[in-house]
Amino acid sequence: MSNGATTKEGPGPAAAARTQNPKLRTQEEKLDLLAAVAVEVGLGLKRGQELLMTAPLEALPLVRRITEHAYRAGAALVTTLYTDDEATLMRYRFAPDESFDHAAKWLYDGMGTAFASGSARLAVAGGNPGLLSKEDPEKVGRANRAVSKAYRPALELITRHAINWTIVASATPAWAAALFPGEPAEAALEKLWNLIFSTTRIDREDPVSAWRAHDANLQKRAAFLNGKRFAALQYRGPGTDFRLGLADDHWWLGGGTTAGNGIYCIPNMPTEEVFTTPHKDRAEGTVTATKPLSYQGTMIEGIRVRFEKGRIVEVHATEGEEVLRKLIDTDDGAGRLGEVALVPHSSPIASSGQVFLHTLFDENAASHIALGQAYSSCLREGDKLTPEELAARGANTSLIHVDWMIGSEKLDIDGITAGGTAEPLMRQGEWAD
Ligand code: ZN
Ligand code: ZN
Repeated sequence: MSNGATTKEGPGPAAAARTQNPKLRTQEEKLDLLAAVAVEVGLGLKRGQELLMTAPLEALPLVRRITEHAYRAGAALVTTLYTDDEATLMRYRFAPDESFDHAAKWLYDGMGTAFASGSARLAVAGGNPGLLSKEDPEKVGRANRAVSKAYRPALELITRHAINWTIVASATPAWAAALFPGEPAEAALEKLWNLIFSTTRIDREDPVSAWRAHDANLQKRAAFLNGKRFAALQYRGPGTDFRLGLADDHWWLGGGTTAGNGIYCIPNMPTEEVFTTPHKDRAEGTVTATKPLSYQGTMIEGIRVRFEKGRIVEVHATEGEEVLRKLIDTDDGAGRLGEVALVPHSSPIASSGQVFLHTLFDENAASHIALGQAYSSCLREGDKLTPEELAARGANTSLIHVDWMIGSEKLDIDGITAGGTAEPLMRQGEWAD
């Protein structure tokens, strides 16, 4: 096995760990491998690039490994912004009411400036998924809206794939406790770490080449769908009878993508989806979510919505309905769809049987759709189109982009050709061919 092409300063600790039996690796080595894979495969970080990272405080061990690998890869500067769940809660306890219409605009402007001047972006996920569940949904909604607004210009560079970016996860005590409530803290944390390592292929003999092979598979699947040029998808499953038109000139993506700055990156780790842009005016029928949605610290469960002419006209949720309604009311595009993604039920994340309460994982366990902003890179030549041209092809615009899961082993999906013929695409949650 050779890694000479990617290791500029001789084989470091990661190169050594890569040759070992996965079963004999220590936690330290696995953490180091995850960091190496995030920097090398996820970001494709280039010598001289800055890196802007965000992470929960509890992710410090992983952040330090990522920082080391980023500098080894030639990063000019690594800057990390930490979030603290306790500090977030203090705002809900003690801040004046008007606080909830504020966001640190200067910070998001700064992030936008960093992206525009060539910085790469890495987000470490792993905060407490239920952090704000007991807080006033009105305040949560206002705070989320303020952040969405302030972050919009910077986020636009991310959704357009102007720069190389990726998201990886760190296990944290609060997240682990939410997933394994009855278990001792240490055992829960270890369980979550092992799930993260297995779903991000760190348990393979050579995680980097495992990722390259997986990426090639997703690319192949996307190419097949791009060749088909389906006009719509038809979904049938328990509580779901739904037809979703695809945007004119839609383009399926899966795995990695070449960002506008010319750097090849894999934006989500894990990733199991192939996805494209639906037409914002062409969703009809009823869809029932198959997993709970954790949205900015609130759990929304039992989602069932009905669409007419692309827009949600009926909303139900057994839990968190008010937050869901507020989310949909964010703006004009928040009640329309900006993404459709296909994920087989046999994905490693679905096979683990674990609900992660984090979109990064759960969206890769099941086929899903997303309310809100569309990815312009999911349209042919989309990055060159004006906002008006994008809208004319059916791409949705919104401050939000929220994925929710509708796939299961009971879901059938047909591709509908321009001529109206139905072709089986997925059966019982698996690819039909
Ligand atoms: Zn997705
Ligand atoms: Zn999405």
